[in-house]
Amino acid sequence: MKTFSLTIGTPDGLLYKDNVERVMCRSITGDLAILADHCNFCTALGMGEAYIRLEDGTQRNAACIGGMITMMNGECHLLATTWEWEEDIDVDRAKAAKERAEERLADSTLDEKQIAAAQAKLNRALVRLGVKNK
Ligand code: ATP
Repeated sequence: MKTFSLTIGTPDGLLYKDNVERVMCRSITGDLAILADHCNFCTALGMGEAYIRLEDGTQRNAACIGGMITMMNGECHLLATTWEWEEDIDVDRAKAAKERAEERLADSTLDEKQIAAAQAKLNRALVRLGVKNK
């Protein structure tokens, strides 16, 4: 299958640079798959499970939380606020974060901003657990 150049970066630096067959991630408007020869394109990333498929067919899964993705003249650049490879995700930590967020959301005295923050934390934990199939 035809491949294209992909770089994945976060504010911490470059995480990945190589040719891939496919990038799959969640944009703010829904799931997005990029293959070679995709038209020039730019969008903001949402929060969700992501994967890349390498030239040898191997798939690497990740949690992707916010950022931007561009496809420009055949090269794809994904700059994520947070990108965690499946093997780097700490399940116990994500479960603890989920519990804390759920407890927080059960508090009826929260204002809108506090609810949104707790909901976002819960969503991040759910994405991480989803990547680990937990
Ligand atoms: P927590 O309450 O456990 O910190 P959080 O959703 O508030 O969860 P973030 O603010 O999204 O955490 O992330 C802070 C940093 O910790 C980021 O660098 C992120 O990659 C890392 N991180 C958060 N949760 C996990 C996890 N379960 N496994 C691995 N890294 C994590």
